[in-house]
Amino acid sequence: MDAGDYYEILGVPRNAEEKEIKKAYRNLARKYHPDVCKEPGAEEKFKKINEAYSVLSDSQKRAQYDHMGHETYTSASKGSYSGTGGFHGGGFSADFSGFGDIFDFFGGGFSGSRQAGPQSGSDLLMKMQITLEEAVFGADREIEVNHTEACSHCNGTGSESKKLVKCPRCGGSGQMRQMSQTIFGQFVRMSTCTECRGRGRIPEKRCTECRGTGHTQVHRKVTVHIPAGIDSGMRLRMEGYGEAGDYGAPNGDLFIEVYVRPHERFRRSGDNLETDVEISPAQAVVGSVVDVETIEKRAVELTIPAGIQHNTALKIPGEGVRRRGKPGDLLVRVRVVIPRQPKAEVRSLYEKIMELEGHRMADSKKGFFSGFMGKK
Ligand SMILES: [Zn+2]
Ligand SMILES: [Zn+2]
Repeated sequence: MDAGDYYEILGVPRNAEEKEIKKAYRNLARKYHPDVCKEPGAEEKFKKINEAYSVLSDSQKRAQYDHMGHETYTSASKGSYSGTGGFHGGGFSADFSGFGDIFDFFGGGFSGSRQAGPQSGSDLLMKMQITLEEAVFGADREIEVNHTEACSHCNGTGSESKKLVKCPRCGGSGQMRQMSQTIFGQFVRMSTCTECRGRGRIPEKRCTECRGTGHTQVHRKVTVHIPAGIDSGMRLRMEGYGEAGDYGAPNGDLFIEVYVRPHERFRRSGDNLETDVEISPAQAVVGSVVDVETIEKRAVELTIPAGIQHNTALKIPGEGVRRRGKPGDLLVRVRVVIPRQPKAEVRSLYEKIMELEGHRMADSKKGFFSGFMGKK
């Protein structure tokens, strides 16, 4: 089993019910809450517990997780500024929508648990619309990222001399003592120093370019690799493309949430695609061969068996979404379309069929409405 398996983290079986998951989460969250637990690595563990819970408590995410496995679900692309400029990470994080909650949770809830020293940059979230073709085949898309980077004038130090000195207010610890009230009771906590904002060091002389922040706002064009098989709601992670971190700390990540626009001919359901084909009553009765255009714009011959019923779906294997080796299928829904104004010749043949079936014919002089009323 995978090391970071969410079920293992919460210590529940794979078929655990919602209640069981919730209970396990509560117990663990209480135990490893950073305000309570002083064990080394508790905060990391607490984050993992929250991450696991955010996925397993959501039936949709859980199904996706079960389906894809831990590795695929969580693997994220690796990219960096030092590369060739383009971003061509291999994996993608399948669904990180739970991350927003986690970050909000940390950002808002536990100001006291902030660590002293340089802080990593914030994560950014962008939304991107793509076509169904791009989702099916994958694509490279250029996007514009608006984020902060290390100031080039001071190398990100925020200091004109590129030198940092010990913060006089906290004596370099980055923290100040403070009493606080939490849901778990009262705690004496260290709070972040307001002078150096937890860094412990301040610029010797503020940089004139970035006014001591060490960061500058930049627009940057970045190529995003959209992996084949991606679906709406999934997020791509571009490591290091978030906001700049403090001097010496890593940048945040950029998350790109994908939205697949509806297609005029194809609908998607999981790895399958679905399309419609219209046939005449004669084709339905006798059976027929029709051409169906796949999403790759190839014409595929589809045999419609004699006696097919309206709305039946026929399968063309392997012409669906390609993800992780085994492709999905193309389902062709057969729509029997009744001719409204058939040619005289065709109509007389239908009349002949009716005669053979022994049905009475409607009076063509009476309209639809009068025929209806005439029943009285
Ligand atoms: Zn600067
Ligand atoms: Zn300080």
